[in-house]
Amino acid sequence: GEVKELDPQYLANGVLKGERRGIAKAITLVESSLEAHRRLAARMMEKLLPHTGKAVRLGITGVPGVGKSTFVENLGLFLVEKGLRVAVLAVDPSSSRSGGSILGDKTRMEQLAAHPSTFIRPSPSGRTLGGVAAKTRETLLVCEAAGFDVVLVETVGVGQSETSVATMVDFFLALMITGAGDELQGIKKGVLEVADAIAINKCDGDNVERAEKARLEFEIAMHIVTPESPSWRPPVLTCSSILKNGTQQVWETVLEHRRIMTQTGEFSLRRRRQALSWMWTLIDEGLKARFHQNSTIAGKIPEISAKVEQELISPSAAAEALLSFL
Ligand code: GDP
Repeated sequence: GEVKELDPQYLANGVLKGERRGIAKAITLVESSLEAHRRLAARMMEKLLPHTGKAVRLGITGVPGVGKSTFVENLGLFLVEKGLRVAVLAVDPSSSRSGGSILGDKTRMEQLAAHPSTFIRPSPSGRTLGGVAAKTRETLLVCEAAGFDVVLVETVGVGQSETSVATMVDFFLALMITGAGDELQGIKKGVLEVADAIAINKCDGDNVERAEKARLEFEIAMHIVTPESPSWRPPVLTCSSILKNGTQQVWETVLEHRRIMTQTGEFSLRRRRQALSWMWTLIDEGLKARFHQNSTIAGKIPEISAKVEQELISPSAAAEALLSFL
């Protein structure tokens, strides 16, 4: 046991065979912040990388209550019925504080979770969004190596997490509801700029008329946003998990986008850019971690902080001085 468990090839084989236990073990390793685990994870990832890249990477965002979990479950069930294997991941930087919100609750996505072709993983915990997102990116690759055809990455549409998820997926869907307030839904935070499609959810019952009106408003709003790609104008759709409609249209939109992007070459361009931007994110995170772990710096912080408080040196000079020890 012990020696084998720590062998990167053995761990990678477990993933490549698509074994649930093997996948879970690999993800646990990827999520670990222990130095020894990180080194091992890196070696395992090297073995997995040649087997990655084939899945449809689909990000889904929306404010709490918009219906993400319900939507993801319906979409997931729709896809497994087509014979596809589906992994569901979550990015929720607040999960460590709130004790696990999205996907943390076992009662959610019960039907999908019970299906043998699915793998559902709650958000990794972490102090920073960058850390949480980095772990999820690697987990996404683990899922691809394990042979999942579609990886759904769900994230709460608050703060910066949606932009972060947008940079790890091929298609980014923003779920909206009427009456939640534009600001609350992150419109001013750039969600519209990174969305490849918008879906007005809960378009059912008394809400149909309002949802249709919202759809038109979003369509107008999307005209003022500079599209990321000259060959794709993000469509605004409506859907309802209760009426179970919209799922198929969303999936068809994802495939259409993929077809066009592949044709223009933007598909691989986007993935290449994402890989590079991921590298820089990791460098930023690594620099931060190194700064905070540096014992010389730790020793200087009290003295320099005191000087800043007493206005003996400026904050910028203090920051410069501390950074110079790196
Ligand atoms: P999340 O917080 O974004 O994951 O939202 P949930 O999936 O947990 O859904 C929040 C609430 O909205 C739940 O009470 C759902 O039953 C309800 N809901 C989800 N989808 C729909 C929908 O399409 N129509 C209606 N009317 N309610 C929905």
